[in-house]
Amino acid sequence: LFVVFEGGEGAGKSTQLAVLAERLRGQGRDVVVTREPGATPVGERIRSLVLDTGKDEAPSPRAEALLYAADRAHHVATVVRPALVRGAVVISDRYVDSSLAYQGAGRTLPVDEVSWLSSWATGGLKPDLVVLLDVEPRTGLSRVETRNEGADRLEAESLTFHERVRYAFLDLAAGDPKRYLVLDASRPVDEIAEAVARRVGEFLAD
Ligand code: C5P
Repeated sequence: LFVVFEGGEGAGKSTQLAVLAERLRGQGRDVVVTREPGATPVGERIRSLVLDTGKDEAPSPRAEALLYAADRAHHVATVVRPALVRGAVVISDRYVDSSLAYQGAGRTLPVDEVSWLSSWATGGLKPDLVVLLDVEPRTGLSRVETRNEGADRLEAESLTFHERVRYAFLDLAAGDPKRYLVLDASRPVDEIAEAVARRVGEFLAD
């Protein structure tokens, strides 16, 4: 089972991911928690290339899209596929939809081209379930600022950038409702966790 958490900045993905992983491990399941970008040594270097650069050194949009795709190709080949093959539950913090939303809608690259690039990178591997934690950008960004994490980089993007990203995620979910669970990220952590566990439970019961 391949589960992906998606959402804008400050949506609470990492919290929910950890809660789900712990719950599934408690049931004795083999769980692999992973993320994009940066789950592998190669990926960590790519993460630093795209995220730890000053504004003047930031890669151009197409270069950025290729770097995320390279991270994803390596991640799928070395972490995700091997884990799925041995029957583990793989839970990833971000996957293809982040590229469609950030590099496509956010940076205004043609979404069909970014989609093609991602399918080439992944060999067409799709998640069974995408949990979209939907957050209004202003709220999400203020949560991240309180954590004081990457605040400079995030401030470099306009609120409209983050709004394009948010609506791109929501559009993707609306286009494939069976594969998506959309939750309001402003709800209490426990309620969100329950909703996620219920939906994941349905998959595991099959
Ligand atoms: O989820 P996490 O906070 O680790 O993501 C790090 C940053 O990478 C996010 O701020 C997001 O803007 C950016 N990102 C991106 N395109 C992706 C994946 C992540 O711009 N495909």
